[in-house]
Amino acid sequence: MKYSRDIMSLSPSATLQLSAKAKELKSSGRDIVSLTAGQPDFPTPVPIAEAGIKAILDGKTGYTASTGILELREAVAESYSRRRKIEWKAENVVVSCGAKHDLANLIRSAVNPRDRVLLPRPYWVSYPEMVKASGAIPVFPEKCIDPAEILKAADQGAVGLLLNYPSNPSGFVPFDDQMRDIADAIAATDMWVITDDIYEDLVYVEGAALHILDHRPELSERTAVVSGVSKTYSMTGWRIGYSLANTEWSRLCGILQAHSTSNPCSISQWAALAAVEGKADKEKGEMYRSFRNRRDLICSLLSDVESVQFERPDGAFYVFPRLADEADSARFCSELLEEEGLAVIPGSAFGAEGYIRLSFAASDDDIREGVTRLDRFLRRRYNA
Ligand code: PMP
Ligand code: GLU
Repeated sequence: MKYSRDIMSLSPSATLQLSAKAKELKSSGRDIVSLTAGQPDFPTPVPIAEAGIKAILDGKTGYTASTGILELREAVAESYSRRRKIEWKAENVVVSCGAKHDLANLIRSAVNPRDRVLLPRPYWVSYPEMVKASGAIPVFPEKCIDPAEILKAADQGAVGLLLNYPSNPSGFVPFDDQMRDIADAIAATDMWVITDDIYEDLVYVEGAALHILDHRPELSERTAVVSGVSKTYSMTGWRIGYSLANTEWSRLCGILQAHSTSNPCSISQWAALAAVEGKADKEKGEMYRSFRNRRDLICSLLSDVESVQFERPDGAFYVFPRLADEADSARFCSELLEEEGLAVIPGSAFGAEGYIRLSFAASDDDIREGVTRLDRFLRRRYNA
């Protein structure tokens, strides 16, 4: 049998694969500390869980509109219109099975075979594979964020661009003038933009960047905003994300979704509505403060580790240290797991060889123990 060349060209998801491997080793009895998972380690807040239970008991368990229940699309449109000062309506919103699904729908609806799509590095692991799965070609600039690279890519025929701030894997958040320069560069091209804002509520600095749409509202004609409830409300397993885009782009995503998954889980949509309506804002604030404290903890521990250099992350729940003298981060991570039982993600999965990603969506004890193991491993490696 012959298979799809596009699909055969895809790599497995390193983040999901390594989190699963760490879990498997742990359940087989090994002493494993996992700083792999890009997901909050808190239970979903009770008011949200209750809205899900109520949906089940009220019999809201049939198919819904394939783009999501009107109540949720209206609430998302209203909340993001306020947040970004753009006038979005329910028809601009598609609710999907996680933000990942929205990203895949948007990319698939915007590209034609062999189109080039610009992905600033380090990129989130799934972007290049989503682009390739749609028959298009991911292209990478030299630097992580640079208006000149955007203009150059457009000159070389790139049709679109993905932005993700705060960044997974680095936690990087641009400052306002950097974001304005990016927005200006995009405005000088015809490229569409997808901004993956899934970590938008996990920003730990004052004066962090406004959005490209805050600088250039007219870009909303060709910019899709993606977010969801997974990270902010600890709802990764519920699988609800959403996108806001122009009506045609949203219509096409809706058609694609209707022929692939139909609606996202009806129960999860009612639970997500409670989240978007602010029913768990207290819990959201508590989780935010925990992540900020853990960010401070991991940074202070890592600053005592020789042979790593890192920028303090201003958002999300990852820190992305650079290793001294490591050309093969995948091999480094597998030896680290083997010798110390510490699981982290290699930078190569994010297009940044020589780095590793540590998630601090983990308990204080795991963070302390994880950094101790990393330190021990590095001392052995470099002082041997
Ligand atoms: N974008 C980024 C940058 C992420 O880290 C994740 C985490 N999985 C997603 C999108 C997808 O989120 P979801 O779980 O809602 O699909
Ligand atoms: N986004 C998370 C991460 O980067 C979850 C895993 C995934 O969806 O790939 O670890």
